[in-house]
Amino acid sequence: MDGKELFQAALGLLPPWQVEGCCFDEKASRLDIHLNFPRGSSFKCPVCQGAGKVHDTLEKTWRHLNFFQHETHLHARTPRVDCAQCGVHLAAVPWARPGSGFTLLFEALALVLVQSMPVSAAARVVGEHDTLLWRIATHYVDQARAKEDFSGVCKVGVDETASRRGHKYVSIFVDVVRRKVLFATPGKDAATVAAFASDLKAHGGDPEAVTEASADMSQAFSKGIAESLPNAKVTFDKFHVVKLVNDAVDEVRRMEQKTNPELKKSRYVWLKNPENLTAGQWEKFDGLDVVNSNLKTARAYAIRLSFQELFNQPADLARPYLDKWYYWATHSRLAPMVKVAKTIRLHQDGILRWFTSGINNGILEGVNSLVQAAKAKARGYRSHKNLITMIYLIAGKLDLKVLPT
Ligand SMILES: [Zn+2]
Repeated sequence: MDGKELFQAALGLLPPWQVEGCCFDEKASRLDIHLNFPRGSSFKCPVCQGAGKVHDTLEKTWRHLNFFQHETHLHARTPRVDCAQCGVHLAAVPWARPGSGFTLLFEALALVLVQSMPVSAAARVVGEHDTLLWRIATHYVDQARAKEDFSGVCKVGVDETASRRGHKYVSIFVDVVRRKVLFATPGKDAATVAAFASDLKAHGGDPEAVTEASADMSQAFSKGIAESLPNAKVTFDKFHVVKLVNDAVDEVRRMEQKTNPELKKSRYVWLKNPENLTAGQWEKFDGLDVVNSNLKTARAYAIRLSFQELFNQPADLARPYLDKWYYWATHSRLAPMVKVAKTIRLHQDGILRWFTSGINNGILEGVNSLVQAAKAKARGYRSHKNLITMIYLIAGKLDLKVLPT
């Protein structure tokens, strides 16, 4: 087998394509493989798939997988096919998709790399600009999403994630049953829900078939859900609700700490659940004698623990439990606790809805932390578009088909 035959076989070339020659430049660490077809070959018209004659050819180059450590490029004069029906069009080549400067195998490799490391790192590995890798990733994500079927979607969750330092956000919509990201879009206002509803329709789903939606207590999502998912009952995500109560505890601590130095460095003692405290935090916990103390912070903390217990109540006792808790919190004479109790009162139907729907944003918390970790490793993304592509790659459970089967 000579070099031509070897590459012909390794590239899996089918007639009329053949290797015409190869040129290895050791200094430049580069292999160039020239492909060609015999005179008189016929090609398919890319529009109607009918046979056509070669009108003329265009020189094209594709970056291929490396040959050992050497960059490899394919070259071919690509025929433009003259079809009686459709006119003159550039023929498709089996090793690359139209318009790409990379072979399918190279793109498949790139896609694997960008799923396992930051795109900038993947770009360094293959020696290409990261813009080109983003373009490949976006193409295959868009192609896979176009084939997605959302017809069974009935329970969704939504949350925002910070896209850049400052206050840029992307809202992420998930199917809480299939545990995957359905849609991501810039912003965190009611319009994001409208955009989700139309994307759902575009993929065979029905906004009116969505019966349960999990979200934080923001006005924006509530309004958006009421407008665009008219049959959805809202469950306020319990992680968000508990966090709100926790924030109130922290506010009580910060105020009390001004006059009580004992509380210095105790922040996480109050924010964590007892079972999650570190040894050092336990020591602090014991030192403060949390259980018997007259600290305001300890009272706020007890109110928080009691609020969390709501979610361990039997469904039929949840409402009276919350009523009692509300009475306690509003009579605590701790302003932040009174305030948060009133907020919870206003949203209690959505909070109690959890006892019926059983849904929360747990999967979104997971997606969010993956996205934030990827973002940190990548030191941020230059655009919303790239962040959204990454969200789909990480959590979209997409069927990313690069190579023909
Ligand atoms: Zn045609």
